[in-house]
Amino acid sequence: MATGRCLCGAVTYEVRGPLRDVLICHCVECRRWQGHVSAMTAAQREDLVLTEGRGLRWIRSPHSDARARRGFCGDCGSSLFWDAPGRETVSIAAGTLDGPTGLRSASHWYASQAGDYYAMQDDGLPRHERSGEGELP
Ligand SMILES: [Zn+2]
Ligand SMILES: [Zn+2]
Repeated sequence: MATGRCLCGAVTYEVRGPLRDVLICHCVECRRWQGHVSAMTAAQREDLVLTEGRGLRWIRSPHSDARARRGFCGDCGSSLFWDAPGRETVSIAAGTLDGPTGLRSASHWYASQAGDYYAMQDDGLPRHERSGEGELP
């Protein structure tokens, strides 16, 4: 079973099921929120269990096509979750998992919104200019 937490421990969680491969999202909203690209795995909604939730806060993602909200720790600021209504999965920032995760990165998303301060190396992963369903971090 996978576990993870924010930097200070005011949000901790367990994932009682499989995790998706990691998607790397270059969109402007992810970069603002994370400080750089987001690297998100995902779990079935019912498999994500908060074992400590006192720090968890949510904010609407302002221009999200999927009308998503983003979950973070209000105490330490760690970016943790991305949650869109109507989806069966919740995205989880892969960097908040306790390692080793056993996961791999699968693809890049919103490559057209990549920042100009880094080079997108050819790492062999597929790149999508944007998501087919509006947004997929
Ligand atoms: Zn925290
Ligand atoms: Zn994004």
